[in-house]
Amino acid sequence: MAAAEQLTELELFARQVAGCTKCPLAQGRTQVVFGVGDPHADLMFVGEAPGFHEDKQGIPFVGQAGKLLDKLLAGIGLERGKVYIANVLKCRPPGNRDPVPDEKEACEPYLFRQVELIRPKVIASLGNHATKQLSGKDIGITRVHGQEQRIRLGSLDVLLYPLYHPAAALYTPAMLTVLEEDFARLPELLGRSAAPVQAPPVLEPVAAEPAVQLGLF
Ligand code: URA
Ligand code: SF4
Repeated sequence: MAAAEQLTELELFARQVAGCTKCPLAQGRTQVVFGVGDPHADLMFVGEAPGFHEDKQGIPFVGQAGKLLDKLLAGIGLERGKVYIANVLKCRPPGNRDPVPDEKEACEPYLFRQVELIRPKVIASLGNHATKQLSGKDIGITRVHGQEQRIRLGSLDVLLYPLYHPAAALYTPAMLTVLEEDFARLPELLGRSAAPVQAPPVLEPVAAEPAVQLGLF
C-alpha cells in the first residue's frame, strides 16, 4: 500500500466500529457515527448520541445543536476541523430517547479507545451523559459545569471540562449564557493544561437538578 493510502490507527478503528452489533441500537441506525475532526486535536468534545441528522449524515453535531457548537467554537477562534467531536453512543437511539445503561456500557470501550488514540489535552463533556461517563461519578452537570477536573483514562492523564449540552442551551437562554461563559475559559485551559494537578474546586451545596427533558435534537 502506498504511504498516502495508509490508514491511521484511528481510521482503522473507525472501520471496525462501523460494523458493531454489540447493542440493540445497531438495528435501528442508518450508520455508526464514530467521530469527526483533527485526529491529533488538543480539544475533544463528547456529546450524548447521534440524532436524526447525525444518523443520516454519519457526522456528529450537524443539526441545530451542532450549529450552536460551531458558533461557540468560532467565538473562541476555533473551527470544527481543529478539534475532535464524538459522542458517548455511536448509534442513534430511537426517537432520540436518552441512552440506557446497557448501551452506554457496550459502547464505552470505543469512546475510551478513541480518546487514547487522539490524546487530547482537554475533553469538554457536553451534558450529563458524557460528563458522568467520563468522570465516573454520578454528579449532575448543573453542579459540575465549568469546573475542570483531572481524570485518568487508560494511560492518559487528561483535563475533563464539563459543559451544558448545546441542545439544552438552545431553548434556555440562561443556560446559553452560562455555556458561553464556560466556553470562554477553554483557551486558558488549553494553554495551561500541562500545569500540575490542582486541588479540586469546592463544590456548591447540592441544588436540585431542573427537570429538563433533553429530547431536543
Ligand atoms: N447531540 C449530541 O449529543 N450529539 C450529536 O451528535 C448531536 C446532538
Ligand atoms: Fe455498537 Fe455503540 Fe452502536 Fe451499540 S451504540 S451498536 S455498542 S457502536
